[in-house]
Amino acid sequence: MKSDAYIFLKPWGKISRRNWQDWRWQFKNSIQSLPQLAEALDKPIHSLGKYQAVIARYHFRISPYYLSLIDVRDELDPIRRQCFPNVKEILYSLGGVIDPLKEKERMPVWGLIHRYSDRCLAMATNVCATYCRHCNRKNMWRVDPSMFSESRLKAVIEYVSRAQNIREVIVSGGDPLTMNEQLLDWFLGSLRSIPHVEVLRIGSRMPVVLPMRISRRICDILRKHRPVWFNTQFNHPREITEASTKACEMLLDAGIPVSNQSVFLKGINDNYETMRALLHGLQCISVRPYYLFQCDPVAGADHFRADVPSCLRIMRKLQDSTSGLCVPQYVLDTPGGKGKVSLLGLTDKEIIEGIYEHFFDKTM
Ligand SMILES: *Cc1c(COP(=O)(O)O)cnc(C)c1O
Repeated sequence: MKSDAYIFLKPWGKISRRNWQDWRWQFKNSIQSLPQLAEALDKPIHSLGKYQAVIARYHFRISPYYLSLIDVRDELDPIRRQCFPNVKEILYSLGGVIDPLKEKERMPVWGLIHRYSDRCLAMATNVCATYCRHCNRKNMWRVDPSMFSESRLKAVIEYVSRAQNIREVIVSGGDPLTMNEQLLDWFLGSLRSIPHVEVLRIGSRMPVVLPMRISRRICDILRKHRPVWFNTQFNHPREITEASTKACEMLLDAGIPVSNQSVFLKGINDNYETMRALLHGLQCISVRPYYLFQCDPVAGADHFRADVPSCLRIMRKLQDSTSGLCVPQYVLDTPGGKGKVSLLGLTDKEIIEGIYEHFFDKTM
């Protein structure tokens, strides 16, 4: 069938099926400049001038695949809003700060956050296939890539091998699946060879923003270092597509359980119907909803913060009305770096009186 051989998408025009399925083509052809964005939107370039200052501070990258999920004529499209630059990112602040979780204070070596005694998180890169505008590490995007070099990763491995209480290492970023495959393989293998490291966890949004990246080769690499748990981030039911389903299935077939961490995003998924469709959809593709985060008060993402009482109502209604396998833990990563706390256990009064002051330190 002719219609199967090509995909048509601006600004690329005719794209062969083969290129489309090739993650390298997808990565290389990601939109990263305003002229490309203007073409994709079918708008004159001068109409996008207002984004210049935004992207000088927070650059953007959108994979052709992720762009194809967007109705570009709809400014409120829930996928578009997750990846298009928005002047609100720099125009005003509602209390957002650069490092809300005080991650820098919990870095015994650069790039390794050790906040809970028995597990830690390694930022292995700051590159992503698509930059989420709501990212809580968006103020790390500009860090020089040399900060994630092999020698830095060696220092991470050394620290973990000395810290005998660490039994689980989360390899995150950025997106670790943007790394050179050999480097990733070596990094995972080195962590795996540390006797007290029992479990590895990957944090990657590739199944959602560039599902072609979940190749047989990457599955083979991950499979080698099992037990590996894979956490991804679907935020909207429209992100559950044939391609993202297949990516998750490949991971599952490789013996790698896939879980999901979503974020409540204002105007995107902070209503009962959308959230229910997302969670049911995830269960249907065998992805376990793990966490649902309240958006962190990070500078540049204030406009995504949904209000806690109404999100709480949604979660209570879901908990009362559907399968336990569909209901994630609804958590807030407390500002100040005191760790994640479950919000479902709180009363409305406690929430109104100030969730932030309420929490005791849950970390080491
Ligand atoms: C969230 C997080 C973890 C993992 O916590 P879990 O509750 O096990 O998912 C570990 N380290 C850091 C720094 C984190 O933010």
